[in-house]
Amino acid sequence: MARGKKIYDGKAKTLFKGSDPGTLIQYFKDDATAYNAKKHEIISGKGVLNNRISEFVMTGLKELGLPTHFIKRLNMREQLIKSVEIIPLEVVIRNFAAGSMSTRLGIKEGTHLPRPIVEFYYKNDSLDDPLVTDEHIIAFNWASQMELDEMVTIALRVNDYLSGIMKAVGIRLVDFKIEIGRVFDDEYQGLIIADEISPDSCRLWDIETGEKLDKDVFRCDLGNLKDAYTEVAKRLGVI
Ligand code: C5P
Repeated sequence: MARGKKIYDGKAKTLFKGSDPGTLIQYFKDDATAYNAKKHEIISGKGVLNNRISEFVMTGLKELGLPTHFIKRLNMREQLIKSVEIIPLEVVIRNFAAGSMSTRLGIKEGTHLPRPIVEFYYKNDSLDDPLVTDEHIIAFNWASQMELDEMVTIALRVNDYLSGIMKAVGIRLVDFKIEIGRVFDDEYQGLIIADEISPDSCRLWDIETGEKLDKDVFRCDLGNLKDAYTEVAKRLGVI
């Protein structure tokens, strides 16, 4: 499928216009970035793995009846997606303490949380994506109360699905981030899951050994990122 004009060049993906109206082509790059791109490397093959893993997860979510932007994978690095208006929030769901939650609240990494915790971060690189509350979201009109409620419902359903498929292959879903967008077809149609769901946006630990199989391998220099992502892809049966 012929790519149209480039419309967005992100840290790990590039978006091009698709040939049909309302569609885009999402290209997965090999760039790995962390700490708001202060750390950056090219990990050959990462984009191919994330394209496959995200396709697998989005397809599973669709089968459960959850709306996603994914239409079809086009090739090793590209997928056809629905064009959405991205809500400027990162939705993070945590099952175990890790990362910024451990740092912020002083909870030991790996502590099982009493229930899944949903957090929102305002997508703004110059502010390093700060944690925000429902009050900020409504007051600043980033989303309506109805959308906020629906985002929480979607996030928890994704958590149930993703925790289950990971557990089945011996992986603990510690936490993950999703992005959600609005779809319009003349009129507002509702919210759908956008962006990607891959080891770039999840914390995944081997249940037996605790080995990290996600972007923390790159963030914290723990070893070979491509090997970790390949292990996830192999266990899920996508390569
Ligand atoms: O850094 P923090 O602990 O808040 O990250 C929580 C989860 O959200 C992790 O799985 C991380 O990979 C993901 N995340 C992300 N993109 C960001 C920030 C966090 O995918 N910009």
